This record gives sequence, structure tokens and C-alpha cells, in this order.
Amino acid sequence: MARSYVKEARQRVGPKRDRIVPVVERLLAEHPDATIALTFRNDLELLVSVMLSAQTTDVNVNRVTVRLFEKYRTPHDYLAVSPEELENDIRATGFFRQKAKSLRGTMAILLEEFDGQVPGTMDELLRLPGVARKTANVVIAERGEAQGIVVDTHVRRLSQRLGFTRQEDPVKIERDLIRLVPRRYWNAFPHLLIWHGRRVCIARAPRCEVCVLNDLCPSSRLGAASGAAPGGAGSARDSV
Ligand code: SF4
Repeated sequence: MARSYVKEARQRVGPKRDRIVPVVERLLAEHPDATIALTFRNDLELLVSVMLSAQTTDVNVNRVTVRLFEKYRTPHDYLAVSPEELENDIRATGFFRQKAKSLRGTMAILLEEFDGQVPGTMDELLRLPGVARKTANVVIAERGEAQGIVVDTHVRRLSQRLGFTRQEDPVKIERDLIRLVPRRYWNAFPHLLIWHGRRVCIARAPRCEVCVLNDLCPSSRLGAASGAAPGGAGSARDSV
């Protein structure tokens, strides 16, 4: 991106600290239905759903878990069948061998160390096989008090386009967001960016002309003096 455009974009929208609350408030008004798209009835189903959602869509996971959760109701149930049977039951989510292995390992630890319950802290969740920071963040946020900010592909793209981070690594992006986003918004923030990313700030063709953030976004096409387009190489990460 040309330096002149970066400077123009930064001046046009102002500092990120002044923009973050208006951005969140506008997204809350725009996407009041922005919640997790996975279907679950309890903490165990939440954990399993999030683990299965790696590398596939929430819609696909929900299709699989309709039957899965009728058959597997407790951690014992996942260990009572053969690995092959569990693999077969989650096959449609992809990477099913690795996911089945992680699920079985997780269920064993839940039984051995947590009385069969899903633990509540980041450190405890990260001890479960196949549970990385993103999965743990989703589980904790859905249970009430977020201890971090979930960074998926949409959160990453929109945070970059909005000039909230210049990082590529999800852990570093989360660190930037934690410093910027008021804690009261930590639960809602990822859902808002995910839904805005699906509906408006689409990866290949952002719809800046109908975006409620276009006067607050350094990557907006409407404000691009040089014709640089948002998305791809045109995001305004350097403007943070
Ligand atoms: S103005 Fe454009 S680039 Fe910025 S958030 Fe909206 S759709 Fe995305």
C-alpha cells in the first residue's frame, strides 16, 4: 500500500482507541443476532462441537452432532466405543482420525482429573489434547466470562482491515485486541466480527458501500483516495 494512502486513511478515521467503542456499538446494532453458530445443550457438547469445528464449517458440525450427541452423552460414552466407530461417527467433519484421537484423549482426562466435567480455566482447558487457545477461548466465552478474545479467520481479516492490528499470528492479534477492546465486549466482539465478515466485509469482495463502519475504517473503498481496494493487499494494517 502506498505511504500516502496509509497516511490519508489514518488521518481520515483517527486513532484506533477512539474508534473501538463506536465500531463495537455499531456492530451490536447491526448484528443483534450475532452469537455462536454451533448447536449444543451443555458444556460437554460445547467442547466437542468446538473441537470438531476445526477446518470445517459450523453448519457441517451441527449436521454431524445432531446424531452424535444422541449417542454420546457422557465422557464414558466416547471411550466405550472403538476408535474406528468414533472416527466413523465424526467422519463428515474432516480430519476425523486426529479429531477422534483428541476426543478420546480429552474424555480420558476429563474423567481422570476433572470428575467428568469440563474445566473452567484457560490453563486447565489447554491441558486437554486437541484444545488450543482458540478452542479454549470459545468454550470459556460461551460459559460466561471471556478470558481472552477468539481469533478466527474473520476476526483476523477484519481486525487488520479496521487497523486494529498489523499482526498475522493469531496469538499476537489476540494480544493487540485484548489491549484495545474494553473487557465488557470480549464475549461479543468475535461474534460481531465473524458475522460482519460473513455478511458485509467479505474476504474477496467487501461491501464497503453498505458497511456501517465505512467512515471508521481505514480500508474502506469509499475513503480510498488512491483507489486502493480493501482486502488482499489493500488493507490498512499499516495505519494502526
Ligand atoms: S468499510 Fe469495507 S473494508 Fe472496512 S469493515 Fe466495512 S466492508 Fe470491511
